[in-house]
Amino acid sequence: MTEVKEIFGCNVFNETVMQARLPKSIFKSLKKTMAEGNGLAPEVAEVVASAMKDWAIEKGATHYTHWFQPMTGITAEKHDAFIAPAADGKVVMEFSGKELIKGEPDASSFPSGGLRATFEARGYTTWDPTSYAFVKDGTLYIPTAFCSYGGEVLDKKTPLLRSMEAINVQAIRILKLFGKTVTRVNTTVGPEQEYFLVDKAMYKERKDLILTGRTLFGAKPAKGQELEDHYFGNLRQRVSDYMKELDEELWKLGILAKTKHNEVAPAQHELAPIFSTTNIATDHNQLTMELMKKVADKHGLVCLLHEKPFAGVNGSGKHNNWSISTNAGENLLEPGKSPKDNTQFLLFLSAVIKAVDKYAELLRVAAASAGNDHRLGANEAPPAIISMFLGDELTAILEAIEKGEEAQPSVKAFLETGVAALPKLPKDATDRNRTSPFAFTGNKFEFRMLGSSASISGANIVLNTAVAEVLDEFASRLENAQDFGKEVAAIVKETVASHKKVIFNGNNYSDAWVEEAAKRGLPNLRSSVDAIPTFASEKSIALFEKYGIFSKTEVISRCEIMLEGYAKTINIEALTMLEMAKKEILPAVLKYNKEVFKTLKVKQELALNISLEKEIAYATKLSNLTESLMSKIDELDNILLETKNYEEVRELAKFFREYVFEAMQTLRGVADELETIVSAADWPFPTYVDLLFYV
Ligand code: ADP
Ligand code: MG
Repeated sequence: MTEVKEIFGCNVFNETVMQARLPKSIFKSLKKTMAEGNGLAPEVAEVVASAMKDWAIEKGATHYTHWFQPMTGITAEKHDAFIAPAADGKVVMEFSGKELIKGEPDASSFPSGGLRATFEARGYTTWDPTSYAFVKDGTLYIPTAFCSYGGEVLDKKTPLLRSMEAINVQAIRILKLFGKTVTRVNTTVGPEQEYFLVDKAMYKERKDLILTGRTLFGAKPAKGQELEDHYFGNLRQRVSDYMKELDEELWKLGILAKTKHNEVAPAQHELAPIFSTTNIATDHNQLTMELMKKVADKHGLVCLLHEKPFAGVNGSGKHNNWSISTNAGENLLEPGKSPKDNTQFLLFLSAVIKAVDKYAELLRVAAASAGNDHRLGANEAPPAIISMFLGDELTAILEAIEKGEEAQPSVKAFLETGVAALPKLPKDATDRNRTSPFAFTGNKFEFRMLGSSASISGANIVLNTAVAEVLDEFASRLENAQDFGKEVAAIVKETVASHKKVIFNGNNYSDAWVEEAAKRGLPNLRSSVDAIPTFASEKSIALFEKYGIFSKTEVISRCEIMLEGYAKTINIEALTMLEMAKKEILPAVLKYNKEVFKTLKVKQELALNISLEKEIAYATKLSNLTESLMSKIDELDNILLETKNYEEVRELAKFFREYVFEAMQTLRGVADELETIVSAADWPFPTYVDLLFYV
């Protein structure tokens, strides 16, 4: 194998390449833009474009594309060749600064939530120099932001960059008060990505997997995840080969793929990169998801990123590990040796606590999708209630501050293994809490609610903006304070008193917590349809408008896109179910009925002295279930027709949730029961055992 150091970033137009290929002054001004997020002069763009083109052509590129992140949640690209006609009937390879900076894809077919009519199709993409360009499959990819002719934001990158800017400005104000001069504060993210791999040949036999990414039918297999033997288990050879190639492909694109292992459910795995700035982490997570699928195909596998591909075993999530760092390399959520004396840390911690409590609904919305509804609160992921885990040490410090007492100094404990030969390990101040939706994990927060297929942009827009607002408020108070130290203490104390309700260190999966949370007044927005409308609340609009993240119109349109997306997803699932039930399951079941009843008839005609009691019961059960299957098909058909009566998107989404989804569950129940009695030879598609335990 080629050395990792050699392949890492080999297809990325990164700083090393830039330094080698750009004149010094150009490199310097580009670097400044990258580090501080300010504008770039056209002359600079011209030189950069030319160097990029030459480099890309050497890497085998013939095309370039403005790569962007529309509201579909995945990425979009339109490829243009570098060619331009030359006088002699030949071509030259061209790429101008203008082409690097601005693109004009037709925007009419992307979701815009009513922001743009089809006749106003113009959309613009603009280069984001803070994320490196790269070459993939013969094309130069230029990360870009996407907006409409009128300037409305149509993507997931622009608001993310704006939210990073908002928190940068406010955090710098605070740091200045602590006597620190830094020029940039960035939020950092390391997203852990869960996924399933299934055999491609079997996948192709399942319309539900092809069209919806999840199984809409499937009886519980004899073995699921109950033996807990898959988590961190040995990798199947095929999977190991896949992971190896995936790592290499990611490394080539400069993605810091670090950790890989088997997850809880059979056929489930995880990949975690080393964290980077939020913007780059978001781009890289999109690329990771894309490559997970592409590489799988080469190994005769299919990668499922759906939140719940299989009922009855754990689904997939994404853990958004988040922190705030200065360009001087200081992690602002690092408590240090003595957190109780680290006032700067306590202030930033307070800001996060207040932000999470105040904007809990928005964080909940960031995790809302039809797919993720299957996971939240189902004992495999946190419930739909936002709370924070801080651990005993920090909680004790905050409690002492609230009471005006002196907190106990931290003691460094050591792990006792009882085996002299093993090294003594310093013990972490707190154990991990894997049931908390928002857990402090030593020097960062882990937001554990996200679904596996989601872009991490939404969650980080909310986090960055909400924390920016609180920092803004704190900074204003502190800038006007007579006694800085006293004011910091007062802020921390007040924050704990007003927002401690969001802190919960116990088991989030228990029913007792659901009751307790209700008593504390924490919102519990169970389904996406309950959660999404809060995105367009006055509180939310005010927050986003204040920091120039979204206008009111943009907030409302995004809310519509999410609700519409929900309704469309359930609609596709319901239609797919009907198709499978009518054309595959029912014919198979009827065929099996024929066999059973034919056998019974023959035996009855022979009139031997044998008991047919069980056989008659079996045939009756089969027949009743068949009848039931047919009526559940009719019911779902009829309920789907009723969706035509709803025009308003909120009402429509609600109807899908309350009626269509329920009718789907009922139909599935009957079909799954039939699967357990119909002969395996007759069952029309691969079962859970086939899919989960392939070799
Ligand atoms: P877990 O124990 O939850 O499985 P992992 O070690 O797999 O955790 O992943 C932790 C993630 O947190 C990694 O992606 C890591 O790079 C990231 N991380 C570590 N420090 C920071 C930080 N300061 N900011 C953001 N993410 C961080
Ligand atoms: Mg984790």
